Amino acid sequence: MKAPAVPAVTGRTHSWDLSTGVDGPGTRFVLFVSGCPLRCLYCANPDTWHMRDGRETSVDEVMAEIGRYRDFVTTAGGGVTITGGEPLLQPAFTGSLLRRCKEAGLHTALDTSGFLGERASDELLADTDLVLLDIKAFHAPTYRRLTGARLAPTLGFATRLDRLDVPVYIRYVLVPGLTDDPSAIDGLGAFLAGLGNVDRVDVLPFHKLGAHKYDALGIDFPLRGTPVPDPALTERVRGQFREHGLRAV
Ligand code: SF4
Repeated sequence: MKAPAVPAVTGRTHSWDLSTGVDGPGTRFVLFVSGCPLRCLYCANPDTWHMRDGRETSVDEVMAEIGRYRDFVTTAGGGVTITGGEPLLQPAFTGSLLRRCKEAGLHTALDTSGFLGERASDELLADTDLVLLDIKAFHAPTYRRLTGARLAPTLGFATRLDRLDVPVYIRYVLVPGLTDDPSAIDGLGAFLAGLGNVDRVDVLPFHKLGAHKYDALGIDFPLRGTPVPDPALTERVRGQFREHGLRAV
């Protein structure tokens, strides 16, 4: 008797690209998935917010595309990064991709806000070599104002990743007047120093490179009038994390 066909795992994707230096170690194949439950005021990818705008894509199709760049990303010490949007909005698709990448011997990174961390199974996280965890603020009301969501799930996910010993790069977007409060940054530094799995903290200066996407979508870019941080402010914040023994770049 013929075995029943296994349904192909599919997800909604926005695009893929190659990048170096910002999405994990080495040169990466970066997959942008569609759909995100957050609405960060500084989001540079508002065109990924809705799953319905993404393209139905099978895991096989993504793996075939990754295969075209395999030598390129592996010789450069890189791998595959799944970002978005929010990859954990589609945990079956993301988990299947991570599994296939591991089977193919590729380094895997998952870029997430952690808000949906409970949707990530231990198996999915076992297939993840590195989590790029965006902790967007450490003061719950600021986090709510910035993202529209609760901070607690992200901190809970950070603690779980420590328990599971999954290496993490923390990403912190620095916005003048919004996420530059010294005491909140000290609080985050102390929290991170208490974890044993934080390899580094990326302090990312807020930028407005995604502003044209808001124009194209006909929606307001709320931080259009907000200045980008000057280098001295960025260095001050990196210094604050370093005072907690963290590697901040
Ligand atoms: S979590 Fe990322 S994709 Fe979602 S709104 Fe925030 S910045 Fe944009």
